[in-house]
Amino acid sequence: MTFKGSYIEITNRCNLDCRDCYNSSGRNKITIELDIDVLIKYIEDLIVIYNTKIITISGGEPLLHSKFNELLDRLTEISHHHPQVVFSFITNGTLYNSKFYDLLENHSQFMVQISLDGPNEEICASMRGAGTFTKVMDNVIKRKFFHKPVYKMIINKTNAPYVEEYFHFVYEQLNGIPCYGFANPQGNAVKNWTEMALSPLEKAKILAIVQKKYKEYNIKEVTLPAPTVHCDLTDTDGIKDFCIKSDGSVQPCQNLYDNKFCIGNIYNLNWELLKTNIDKLSLYLSTRLEKDYGCKKCLLNNNCGKGCPAFSFMRNEGLLTSDEDCDFRRLATIMMIKTDKKLDK
Ligand code: SF4
Ligand code: SF4
Repeated sequence: MTFKGSYIEITNRCNLDCRDCYNSSGRNKITIELDIDVLIKYIEDLIVIYNTKIITISGGEPLLHSKFNELLDRLTEISHHHPQVVFSFITNGTLYNSKFYDLLENHSQFMVQISLDGPNEEICASMRGAGTFTKVMDNVIKRKFFHKPVYKMIINKTNAPYVEEYFHFVYEQLNGIPCYGFANPQGNAVKNWTEMALSPLEKAKILAIVQKKYKEYNIKEVTLPAPTVHCDLTDTDGIKDFCIKSDGSVQPCQNLYDNKFCIGNIYNLNWELLKTNIDKLSLYLSTRLEKDYGCKKCLLNNNCGKGCPAFSFMRNEGLLTSDEDCDFRRLATIMMIKTDKKLDK
């Protein structure tokens, strides 16, 4: 088994309370943060035993971890021994930490993804709260990052009309890489879902716009916000990725977030047991591939991995149910082929 990366939530606290936050971090009243020694041991095991090359540090807001500077020092030390490893941070960009920004400007193994849900104060405020946009700009404008930062917009009904404007703002004014995802009905978004949800056709049209922009500007660093076709977890011999929660729980992925999907804990990690648990889950999820979600009559049948088990759980409360993205997958496939043909002409 190979572990290609790990997504680690080092703290459950956040200074914002975004309308689309998948784990409602801003509402946590009791702070839970990962112990630095335990975290470092886990990261070193991944790198040394499993040759993992990407470690993603997230939260909550990771800069709020009470020993964040110590963590940066320890990761810098690791980077000297393992030059193939990249540490990627996911932050809301509103907090300043000089050591952090020094590393992002000068160290080739430190990268950042900043969450920003619109190209201006008004649109960003509708998702992330007033003043957020200005604080991010204060931290990033005029900074010379070693790697271009990725700015990620989570798209929902309110900010959807600004996808193209966002692309140009990030690419031209921030010298960053624009990246997109669609909001999901989880965390804070559950309560607001009727006003946030986009139809499959609306999502497919947005996808075509993003695809066109990425091609025009030759952007290859990020993936399209395309519907999930295949899930790595349905491969019984695949390459895996884990999500670690701030209490040390190991989750199969960031979207299988409920405690019932926990497959271990890094405070008492037994790698063999973890591998057994992930094997069991993969074997179970692989039975999705035999299910008929309308597949026999579907144009994608021969190439479809039957979608995302986590969305199936969110939308239909079962890992083997439909993920409800079949219309999006079909429309997206048609639109992407059409966009490709237009661009090839
Ligand atoms: S898109 Fe849906 S119906 Fe079509 S093959 Fe995939 S899972 Fe089946
Ligand atoms: S369950 Fe869904 S979100 Fe999780 S790894 Fe599979 S496709 Fe990705």
